[in-house]
Amino acid sequence: MKISKRFANVGDSSTLKITSLAKSMKSKNIDVAILAAGEPDFDTPDKIKEEAIKAIKEGFTGYTAVRGINELLDLICEKFKRENGLEYKPENIMVSTGAKQSIYNVLQALCDEDSEIILLAPYWVSYIEMVKMTGALPVVVDTSVDNFRINVERIKEKINKKTRMIIINSPNNLTGVVYTEKELRELADLIVEHNIYCISDEIYEKIIYSPNKHYSIAALNNNIKDLTFTVNGLSKTYAMTGWRIGYLGGERKLVEKALMVQTHSTSCTSSISQKAAVAALKLDERIVNSMIDEFKKRREFLMKKVENIEGLNYVQPQGAFYLFVDFRNFIGKKFKDSEEICTRLLEDYKVAVIPGGAFGAEGFVRISYAASMSEIEKGIDRIEKFLKENV
Ligand code: PMP
Ligand code: GLU
Repeated sequence: MKISKRFANVGDSSTLKITSLAKSMKSKNIDVAILAAGEPDFDTPDKIKEEAIKAIKEGFTGYTAVRGINELLDLICEKFKRENGLEYKPENIMVSTGAKQSIYNVLQALCDEDSEIILLAPYWVSYIEMVKMTGALPVVVDTSVDNFRINVERIKEKINKKTRMIIINSPNNLTGVVYTEKELRELADLIVEHNIYCISDEIYEKIIYSPNKHYSIAALNNNIKDLTFTVNGLSKTYAMTGWRIGYLGGERKLVEKALMVQTHSTSCTSSISQKAAVAALKLDERIVNSMIDEFKKRREFLMKKVENIEGLNYVQPQGAFYLFVDFRNFIGKKFKDSEEICTRLLEDYKVAVIPGGAFGAEGFVRISYAASMSEIEKGIDRIEKFLKENV
């Protein structure tokens, strides 16, 4: 077998792999509690579905402009202005096949083989693999020593002439940490001083728990704005994971380059999903808020449950829908690593959760609460039983 050198080290997506394994177990009538993927269990709101059906019936089924349809671009510009304080024109926007594709396009367009890309660990698994796919070098800054927050000094130590970019994610998948305005200002100053680019992945922006507030780093000043790609998407907020709509805003000429990747790879995202996205961005906020209220209840419930399990600790999530649980008290004695814990949990106790190792967070396990309350209860009770019986 001959494969490209760039791909030799690219790993799987543990989130997608474990989720599809658990789903296939469920389809065989195995009673698995799935607390794995970051995928809301809600159905896409009806208004959005209706718009997609209308698009199909009206024959809106051809290729669209690579960047996306005008109606959607205009709504994204309005959204950026209203909610993020960011002034963009349609020429600053790219709509793509999920936020994942937006990030991928930027990395492909901007990275050289000798570029270094700074990631803050724990990082979402696909960042590191996407960086490797460009041939660039991921440079990891461990945030666990700083309570998973930004430490500008530590990031500064990793910057050199080869540094091309830093990727940040707030609210964070998997710690749930939300960066403060002060933290982002300090980081913005560092980025501008060293003239590197920034991808700010804000896909969990609306899934946030009071009193925390979301800030877009690009909105802090014009210098950082021109260096930043603000990435967002509809998967989480509107329960639209399968529709594959993500987007970004950025400096016009840089976005042109990211669009080249899209031109020659996917051409555009689905015309039907784009029409659905128009309906999503016009949706009554109350529908989104009711889903977020549900996440709040689940978060409270799960935190209480984990608090009562001896030996486990967790990071209190300020946003997103994951509980990042510290299993280090059990590692090195009974279990080798978080991978072994998650494998045992799935195979023997039928609960699917994600090991932190693939996210640069060995010793931790991610529990998603984008699942029904009964699924969460079942899953956490099984984790408790697993620990009782095995340690
Ligand atoms: N960023 C983060 C941090 C995520 O957790 C995800 C998960 N889906 C994505 C981006 C990509 O989302 P999508 O491609 O579905 O828009
Ligand atoms: N981003 C979600 C997660 O972290 C969905 C799966 C994926 O795309 O990785 O679980």
